[in-house]
Amino acid sequence: MLAIRQSVDIKVGQQQVPAEIISFDGLESGKEHVALRFNRAETGDNPPTLVRVHSECLTGDIFHSSRCDCGEQLNEAINRLDQFGGVLLYMRQEGRGIGLYNKLDAYVLQDQGLDTYAANVELGFAEDSRDFTEAAEMLKALNIQKVELITNNPRKTQQLSAHGIDVVATQNTAVHQKSDNVGYLKAKQSLGQHELNLSHDGEQPCQNC
Ligand SMILES: [Zn+2]
Repeated sequence: MLAIRQSVDIKVGQQQVPAEIISFDGLESGKEHVALRFNRAETGDNPPTLVRVHSECLTGDIFHSSRCDCGEQLNEAINRLDQFGGVLLYMRQEGRGIGLYNKLDAYVLQDQGLDTYAANVELGFAEDSRDFTEAAEMLKALNIQKVELITNNPRKTQQLSAHGIDVVATQNTAVHQKSDNVGYLKAKQSLGQHELNLSHDGEQPCQNC
């Protein structure tokens, strides 16, 4: 299933660091998911691999949109993976699986008062159309069976486990709260069961609640 493994230097903070980008063939969806591997010397006996499964968000990842926290989560994960070694799976399932154009339609509905999940339903989609089956297949192709997952989202843990990946631990990402994304984060917390500790005033992460 592995197609190309190519060394790349990528920017992490102010430094260029070595990584390996890996493409896959034989994925049923035909989507161009990729893995980015950061190598560090392994310690201990058969330790879990640190993994971030990140779903594409063009507006957040590339343009650092204030409407969501995807870009900040991606940067945080890459920093940790560079520090400790591990694998980023970059899944091409934009807009929780509905695509970029539909996501922009959903933004219009959100501006009319719907939350991020209800907006997708109003457009005729599931609340969350992402499927992590292929993420599990990619990990197996990389010979990774045991992982420590960087996520706040219990669905990812459940789906990877259901597809034969041993998730031995999870690491939460920080709360990347901005004035424009408070409603989005609250919906992820209350409706998506994401593990987020949000502040009441919508400006700074709360340390006390
Ligand atoms: Zn986003």
